Amino acid sequence: MTRLVVVGNGMVGARFVEDLLAADRTGRYRVTVLGAEACEPYNRVLLSEVVAGRYGVSTLTLPSPANDRLAVHRGVPVTAIDREDRAVVTADGTRYRYDQLVLATGSSARIPPLAGLAGAPGVLPCGVHPLRTIDDAREIVAATLNARRAVVLGAGVLGLEAASGLTQRGCDVTVVHPARGLMERQLDAGASRVVESAMTGLGIDHRIGVGAEAVLVEDGALRGVRLSDGEVLGAELLVLATGTTPNTSLAAAAGLPTDRGVLVDATLASVGDRRVFAVGDCAQPPEGGTGLVAQGWEQSRRLAATLCGAGPSPAPGQAGGNDVVRLKAHGLDVVTMGVCGSRREDDPAQRTLRLSDPDEGRHVEVVVSGGVLVGATCVGAGQVAADLVAAYTRRSPVPADPAYLLLTALAPSPHTATDPATMADHATVCRCNGVSKGDITASVHDGAASVEDVARATRATTGCGGCADDVCALIRGASTSHQTQPSGENRLTKGKQMIHSTETAAG
Ligand SMILES: Cc1cc2nc3c(=O)[nH]c(=O)nc-3n(C[C@H](O)[C@H](O)[C@H](O)COP(=O)(O)OP(=O)(O)OC[C@H]3O[C@@H](n4cnc5c(N)ncnc54)[C@H](O)[C@@H]3O)c2cc1C
Repeated sequence: MTRLVVVGNGMVGARFVEDLLAADRTGRYRVTVLGAEACEPYNRVLLSEVVAGRYGVSTLTLPSPANDRLAVHRGVPVTAIDREDRAVVTADGTRYRYDQLVLATGSSARIPPLAGLAGAPGVLPCGVHPLRTIDDAREIVAATLNARRAVVLGAGVLGLEAASGLTQRGCDVTVVHPARGLMERQLDAGASRVVESAMTGLGIDHRIGVGAEAVLVEDGALRGVRLSDGEVLGAELLVLATGTTPNTSLAAAAGLPTDRGVLVDATLASVGDRRVFAVGDCAQPPEGGTGLVAQGWEQSRRLAATLCGAGPSPAPGQAGGNDVVRLKAHGLDVVTMGVCGSRREDDPAQRTLRLSDPDEGRHVEVVVSGGVLVGATCVGAGQVAADLVAAYTRRSPVPADPAYLLLTALAPSPHTATDPATMADHATVCRCNGVSKGDITASVHDGAASVEDVARATRATTGCGGCADDVCALIRGASTSHQTQPSGENRLTKGKQMIHSTETAAG
């Protein structure tokens, strides 16, 4: 028996355990999971959808495998790693010995060093919340019952999703962002302006290029935010969306090399100790970390296969196509991938083409190199975004004149690369989980008749849920052509409602 301890029971830690137990056909591993959060693992990606009221918290729970070789301890933070004794120590002093240790400690919300927030560590004034955990989401939703005015600090992906969600709940929202444009890692100035005007159309106010200077608190409760230009925004709710910091302190205190994350090599082993591995948001692999769940799930699959004797799998190239960012914000249609925004490089081999149409709320940019798409920015152009994501993740050759990549937006074809009916069997439908059209149609032929059935069989839709409509279309198409499930339509409809309802399972 090999004793394997996993620290962290979040989206990647929990998935790694599933993958490992499935791959461990000889029953070699005895696995202990130690997670600081007291609840079952849940889909953190959908917390902004909880704020928006599109999902209920009870629907986010992720599957936990039942296995007599697995012990899961929830609400148990690990406080130290004793590498000499090969043990981890929990807050109550219990020691768990390991032969191999996997760190999946994720990241934490970064709290900006603002006047008014510098209370006891971890204690924020009433009305001030980050958005990282299920408790944060619950508290934000509860606060919207009494808050009329909300400020969101930070206009990255999370800030815009939070702002859109709070607007949906009826708050007057102002987004404050010190950089010169929105989502500056993903968007350039032109794209940002198009999103800004879409926000104005949705009633979301914004102060771009101005930072917050102080959080104004009276009697322990939030009163507002003072900006660096002296303006005071009155608010009863402040959401901090000011970035995340990978949780590396445990590893660093144990002498493991860390930078932004825990430094691991291509096999995900710590560069300082080959018995220790790191996956997910806390890891810094050679290709860099994206902070996106698809990368963590790919790492989890790869590490499980390696540990169970499949030999080291090759690490993906730069981000491995796992860096597609899709904003989950009602009325703000933004998708980016690869080279975009501040990640643009001064590379003469890259050719950039742009269609900017602010009057129509559209901005599309593609970056092509070596005959393939290496980056794209799409605002207000849903169908072309879907096609570009397909071209980017599959590394399909681009047309000789890459301008055609932009023009699909103006002349949408019913038979685009992403039409579920015509896409190739190997085409990826669920990018979070790497599930192809062929996997989904095979599950339908095996009896899956609803989105929930397909999710159970293949994991499709269990990440960001953005592929739910495509999965519905594939179930409908496959069950019609094969007539295997006469009652499939009703069950499909039920599954589709489930995806869009606040009371049912997470996509
Ligand atoms: C609101 C929101 C929206 C998001 N949207 C998207 C999206 O659209 N697409 C996308 O790809 N990604 C998105 N993300 C990011 C995604 O959620 C993360 O990439 C993913 O959760 C990473 O999984 P993880 O297991 O590495 O970390 P986490 O899910 O953070 O889990 C880490 C776990 O480790 C536990 N832990 C930490 N330290 C210890 C310790 N010392 N002892 C025991 N346990 C410990 C933590 O409590 C936590 O439960 C979003 C995140 C948020 C917050």
